[in-house]
Amino acid sequence: MDKRFLKNPYADYDGSAACTQHLFDPHGKLTEEFAGRLSNTISELLSHMENGLKSADPRDCTGYTGWCGIALLYLHLADVFRETSFLQRALDYASRSLQCLTRRSVTFLCGDAGPLAVAAVAYHRLQRPQESDDCLGRLLQLHRTVVKGERNLPDELLYGRIGYLFSLVFINQQFGQEKIPMQYMQEICDAILASGENLSKKCRGQDKTPLLYEWYQEYYVGAAHGLAGIYYFLMQPGFGVGDERLLRLVKPSMDYLCHLKFPSGNYPPCIGDSRDELVHWCHGSPGVIYMLLQAHKVYGDDRYLADALECGQVIWQRGLLKKGYGLCHGAAGNAYAFLALYKHTHNPHHLYRACKFAEWCMDYGRHGCRTPDTPFSLFEGMAGTIYFLADLLQPLRSKFPAFEI
Ligand SMILES: [Zn+2]
Repeated sequence: MDKRFLKNPYADYDGSAACTQHLFDPHGKLTEEFAGRLSNTISELLSHMENGLKSADPRDCTGYTGWCGIALLYLHLADVFRETSFLQRALDYASRSLQCLTRRSVTFLCGDAGPLAVAAVAYHRLQRPQESDDCLGRLLQLHRTVVKGERNLPDELLYGRIGYLFSLVFINQQFGQEKIPMQYMQEICDAILASGENLSKKCRGQDKTPLLYEWYQEYYVGAAHGLAGIYYFLMQPGFGVGDERLLRLVKPSMDYLCHLKFPSGNYPPCIGDSRDELVHWCHGSPGVIYMLLQAHKVYGDDRYLADALECGQVIWQRGLLKKGYGLCHGAAGNAYAFLALYKHTHNPHHLYRACKFAEWCMDYGRHGCRTPDTPFSLFEGMAGTIYFLADLLQPLRSKFPAFEI
C-alpha cells in the first residue's frame, strides 16, 4: 500500500510525570520553555509567510487558500497575544479579500461569507461600527439564497449551507452576543434537514439513513464535504433541530455513518469506498471525531466516545502526513483532533500527543514533505500551521478554525 504518512518517531504518553514535565504541568499549563519555543517558532514562520505571500494569487479572496484566511490568522493572533498591530493586519488582509469576492460561492471558507464576516469583526474590533454593519448587512443578504437553495446549493461545509451557517456562528462568537438572531441559523438547519430527507427518500435509503447528502454525485463522509461535518452542526444546541428530529433523523443517520468505520478505526472518504488510506481532517477520522464527540455530549452514549478515542489512535499512528503541515490535510489539522479529545476528556494523554505533533510542525520543512499548491495559505499551508501553534498556547480554548463551534 502506498503510504501517505511518515512513521511517528515519538514515544507515546506513558502516564509518567517525566514524559510530560518538559511540556506542561499537572494542570495542563504549558511550561514556560515549551510556550517560549512555540512563540518563537510562530514569529519565525510568520515572517516566512509574509515573504511568501508576496507571490500569492492576488485575486484569491477565500479563507481556504486566499486573503481571508490570512486575515483570520491575524484575528486569532490578536486574541492570543493581545496585540493590536495584529488587528490592523487582519483588517488589511480582510479589505484585500473584499476587493476580489467570488460572487459565486456563499460559504465562509470558499465563498464571500468569509471575507464579509472576517471584515465585519475586524472593523468592529477597531471601533469602526458603520463599516462593520455594512459588512454584516451584505453577509445577511446571502441568507435567502442559502435557505432557498438557489443554484443547486449543496449542504456541506466548503461550498454548501453549513459553510454559510458557520459565518453567522462566527459573528456571534466574535461579537460575544447574539448579533445575528438564532432564527437565521434555525432556518438554515431546517433547509439542511429537508434536503437530507429528500435525498434519502430519492435513494430509497430512509430505513438505513433518514438523512443523506451528496457533493458532486458522491456521498462524502468527512468533515469538509460530507456527512460528519453536517451532523456535527445539526447537533449544536440553539440551532433549533430539537429532540424529536435529533432522535428520529440525526441519530440513526449518524449511526449509519458509524457503521462505515474500518477495522483500523478510520473512516472512508465516501460511502462505498473501501480504501482505508486517508487520515486527513477533510477525509477520515481527524474530521469525523468532532461529530463523535458532539454525539457523546448530546446522546450520552459511550460508544461514540470509544469511537472518538479510536480516531485518536489512528491519527497518532498515521497522522504525520507526507502532504505536509497544513490544516486540511496535514499534521496541524490532525493535531486538532487531539486537542478536541483533550477538551472533552481532560486526559493529559491527548494534550501530550498534540504537543508532539506541534514539535513535528516546529521542524517545518525538514521531513521531505510535499509543498502544497498554496504553500502559505490557511488551509493548505503555513498560515494554518501557525494558527495551530498559537492555539496550543491555550489548549482548552483551542478550536479548529472555520469549523469547530
Ligand atoms: Zn484536505
